[in-house]
Amino acid sequence: MRIENDIKLDFKDVLIRPKRSTLKSRSQVTLARTFTFKHSPQTWTGVPIAIANMDTTGTFEIAAAASKHQLLTCMHKHYTLDQWTTFARESPDAIGYVAASCGSSVNDFNAIKDILAAIPEIKFICLDVANGYSEFFVDCVKRTREAFPNHIIIAGNVVTCEMTEELILSGADVVKVSARSGRAFKRRIQNTPIRPPCFMAPACSRRLPLWFAPPSLLFTPCLWPSFLTRACDPQVGIGPGSVCTTRKQTGVGYPQLSAVIECADAAHGLGGHVVSDGGCTCPGDFSKAFGAGGDFVMTGGMFAGHDESGGELVEKEDGSKCKLFYGMSSATAMEKHAGGVAEYRSSEGKTVSVPYRGPVSNTIMDILGGMRSSCTYVGASTLKEISKRTTFIRVTQQLNHVFGTADMRQPGMPAKK
Ligand code: 5GP
Repeated sequence: MRIENDIKLDFKDVLIRPKRSTLKSRSQVTLARTFTFKHSPQTWTGVPIAIANMDTTGTFEIAAAASKHQLLTCMHKHYTLDQWTTFARESPDAIGYVAASCGSSVNDFNAIKDILAAIPEIKFICLDVANGYSEFFVDCVKRTREAFPNHIIIAGNVVTCEMTEELILSGADVVKVSARSGRAFKRRIQNTPIRPPCFMAPACSRRLPLWFAPPSLLFTPCLWPSFLTRACDPQVGIGPGSVCTTRKQTGVGYPQLSAVIECADAAHGLGGHVVSDGGCTCPGDFSKAFGAGGDFVMTGGMFAGHDESGGELVEKEDGSKCKLFYGMSSATAMEKHAGGVAEYRSSEGKTVSVPYRGPVSNTIMDILGGMRSSCTYVGASTLKEISKRTTFIRVTQQLNHVFGTADMRQPGMPAKK
């Protein structure tokens, strides 16, 4: 047993310090980014917010609405091929903004193979497993890369530098950070001697140590952060998801902001990207995740409860309306998709009732408006610049709850024109 005393931070532990800015208006900020990828030869232009592949949020209806704002929707994996082809026929403009999701089973692989063959316009594959640390998953990433050399592969979840690198070197373009992750790789990582810092990040995992670096490189400041953080300790971590109960069930966790900072550094050193997955509770958290180095930010809970979200709309006795939202490892999801919770495991997700929030477009505009404003506060004219211009300050309180946490203007209410 060992105790680490380094402080690890969550979104709630920091605020972004404002900086002098030449921007006159939020309208001058460009949130869309054009991405090139480590493995896939494709490019993608869009606003790098990814809607989670949960069956309540990764729906065709959300994708149709979100694509109008250039957001990426990771579809849940329970749609049939017929449903996919109908969607592609009816919403051809949205198809460039969706990812087809897949677990690590043979059935999932066969299903996604059929979907991608039928709809070649789909650019993204989201390979999502509870345990991004298993050797089996690494093999699965390799097999998927071999089978789909042109697709942009998002894979996860992990929370440590070592595993981020492992997935990128195995074929992932974007690593999903935050984990419902497991321990299969722990021993291997712990037994791996800490590598000397490396100066040839893009080459491979057996990279040349720092003392072989040409002197000119040693004086290249932009390379220092990678050197300094490369030899991270192995950790297993748990996502901060709004309906995740893994921390409660397992006692395992890793604060999301620190996970993004560390994994983004590792990924960028190899020419890869990361998506910060889960834990956003308000628009400001998206800016913090991008400020921390996240290339994409994925969210589920903030897209629950809308017209386009999955789940039935229920009217309560007091006349208020709500929708069910649940984790994909909750008893609700397992009963729906797997016939119940297997005896050897417990559910690691919860089921909640979310107030009805109207059309998803209003929530999207609320989030994008907040992000544009963050950019103007730090003087970033594009989203890509925000991490370079971000200084986090540690705080003990970020919001004032004197009137409670309720917002009279529901997140989904129409924005003033
Ligand atoms: P949110 O944006 O709601 O805070 O987090 C969404 C993320 O929570 C998803 O993208 C996924 O990674 C994670 N998640 C979804 N369902 C479950 C679950 O049942 N258990 C756990 N541990 N994580 C979940």
